[in-house]
Amino acid sequence: MDAARLHEYTDEMSMAFSFEELPRPEPERSDDIVVRIEAAGWCHTDNHIVHGDFEGVADINLPHTPGHENAGTVESVGDEVTAVDPGDEVVLHPALTCGTCRSCRLGEEMYCDEHVFCGMDTDGGFAEYMRTSERSAVQLTNVDPVEAAPHADAGLTAYRAVKRARANLVPGDTVLAIGVGGLGHIGIQLLDELTAATIIAADIKDEALALADSADHTVNLRDEEISELVDTVTDEHGIDAILDFVGSDETLDLGLSLLKQGGDHYVVGYGGHVTAPAQAMVGLEINYCGTLCGSFTELQELMSLVEDGQIDVRTVEYPLAEINDVAAKLEDGEIQGRAVLKP
Ligand SMILES: [Zn+2]
Ligand SMILES: [Zn+2]
Repeated sequence: MDAARLHEYTDEMSMAFSFEELPRPEPERSDDIVVRIEAAGWCHTDNHIVHGDFEGVADINLPHTPGHENAGTVESVGDEVTAVDPGDEVVLHPALTCGTCRSCRLGEEMYCDEHVFCGMDTDGGFAEYMRTSERSAVQLTNVDPVEAAPHADAGLTAYRAVKRARANLVPGDTVLAIGVGGLGHIGIQLLDELTAATIIAADIKDEALALADSADHTVNLRDEEISELVDTVTDEHGIDAILDFVGSDETLDLGLSLLKQGGDHYVVGYGGHVTAPAQAMVGLEINYCGTLCGSFTELQELMSLVEDGQIDVRTVEYPLAEINDVAAKLEDGEIQGRAVLKP
């Protein structure tokens, strides 16, 4: 099979991948499945992988096939697989987990003692076929794999962040979503779907803000003073929760200046540093909360919304052969919504 391979870490996205003919994976364990990949979302994490930012953090062995947002058709199954059959269309949770540790028993797969992340610790979906476990598969009934793939991570991560924020958001509250990209444009729809809060969407590009139609207010951080809008919308009370899909130094700083006392800043995107003075954090009693992907049951919940047609993900399709162009485009912020690669 054809696979896009990263042979060495580089800052040159347009030359990162080369194509190799590899043996098609087969089920190894009795609960393995092999999926013919029909759609694999390109995530900003893949840019971090290419840069080498996960060296020492994840178990990446070069050469490596990334791709952790996968959907396709089950091709073959191990002897004891009962959850899916060959021919079933599925979207794949990115984690391979043990199922028996305490975190798995609590439904927190991302904390599993034996956690393996497909497309990082193992070869992922930027190839024609990928091996995973039957426990990772959510069946699709009326959603196209291209529409489903971005939900395996972008949608799921946004869903978990919104679900956590929702616990503290009541009618009359105001939530600020920063970054209307692959995650943000889904997150804003989920905020609209799951909360009664007033939604402000912020980005630095008008083309991105055009994807925020579920927001009550939009603000271009390059052209407008966000504090003025927040004062007007909240009657100078401040924001109750920030969903930070960017996670840069600049956006992380906004928590201190825009949150009301007791507010929460959910850190979803990453790259920057939280440098809040402890005195201000104590005085304002604000919380910075990291949020990591989501659990299998959260993917089921999200896909139930997607199957019902409640979430409209903006995808741009590319053949897998154009992976280097996609990597470069996302690095330069030139993709609106989610890029999906088709092997
Ligand atoms: Zn991702
Ligand atoms: Zn486990």
